[in-house]
Amino acid sequence: MLPENYFDHAATSPVEPEALHAMLPWLGELFGNPNSVHQFGVRAKAALESARESLALSLGAEDPAQLIFVSGATEANHWIARQFGKDLAYSPFEHSSMLESAKLYEGKSLPNQGYSVPIDDSESRAVALIHTCNETGACPSLAGGNPSWLHQDITQSVGHVPFDLSRMQSASLSGHKFGAPAGIGLLYCQDPLGLQPGMVGGEQEWGLRSGTSPVALAVALAAAARVSIERREERTQQYLVLRNLVFDELSDLVGWSTDPESIRSPHILSLSFQRIEGETLVLEMDAAGFAISSGAACSSHSTKPNHVLMALGYSESQRRGTIRISFGPQNSQDSTIEMCRHLKKCVLSLRDKFI
Ligand code: PMP
Repeated sequence: MLPENYFDHAATSPVEPEALHAMLPWLGELFGNPNSVHQFGVRAKAALESARESLALSLGAEDPAQLIFVSGATEANHWIARQFGKDLAYSPFEHSSMLESAKLYEGKSLPNQGYSVPIDDSESRAVALIHTCNETGACPSLAGGNPSWLHQDITQSVGHVPFDLSRMQSASLSGHKFGAPAGIGLLYCQDPLGLQPGMVGGEQEWGLRSGTSPVALAVALAAAARVSIERREERTQQYLVLRNLVFDELSDLVGWSTDPESIRSPHILSLSFQRIEGETLVLEMDAAGFAISSGAACSSHSTKPNHVLMALGYSESQRRGTIRISFGPQNSQDSTIEMCRHLKKCVLSLRDKFI
């Protein structure tokens, strides 16, 4: 399958050349445990801290010490869910890593009206509100209250949707959604002194998150964040053109709709087709050489109904007929037109077989 035919960047994205370039020396001639006192360790520590400083600059954190390296957003979301337990209220739009962790620690689910999530100040000390929903690309908002701790999952926002860390007490992200390899992410915390350790045993990350620091991944994360944020506007223009091409190409097809809120994150497009099984459509498209998805990759083998679409009031058939197209820098106008033509062909032939 050609890279330009990959339309599933919200699941994972290819490593940015700059991130690979930054990381390679740390997989070859350079090595060292940043906690070691000898020169190998000192050099590794310097690279780790310079990656942290660069990330603070790219993401707009006041202080590099607010950024704690973790394995990814799943770990960061779980950390916050565990820290607040019953005192955490969570929106219905959370990624399953927050949703399931919050349930595990007896957090409280919040209701919604469309993408608005009403909260009551007296109810919760902490609220988890995803910044950009990985399923639909929308950016939900809180209504009626101001939690004392707001946690936002900015995984799908980096490089796509502007965000302001100073408005969040904590935030989570995973690097592989914007050009770093999988296995590295951050927990941002405005006041890390307020955090209970996520992992104990060593003294890494000021004793908050033990485990030997992955220098190669950290430098790749810093390069990927810099590149994707620097190029956000230019890529947004590219994705808006591609979105419009999709709408043009599908204009003579009946029985489909899109979530208008998905425009908030230009790289994600949620489409619902009547009389279609999204899973089957994804497989047919794969056979035709195009990668799209029927929702989050983490739950693509799950038989549970999609919780985000449920919260939005989609009927069962609408949920089953929903697919996600997510753009990345290598998608071209030609590959998008090709993809749409195959999509149309697959939809029509599947509808013929639909009973
Ligand atoms: N949050 C969001 C919004 C995501 O899209 C994902 C990945 N699908 C995650 C969290 C989890 O990321 P990871 O699997 O890298 O921990």
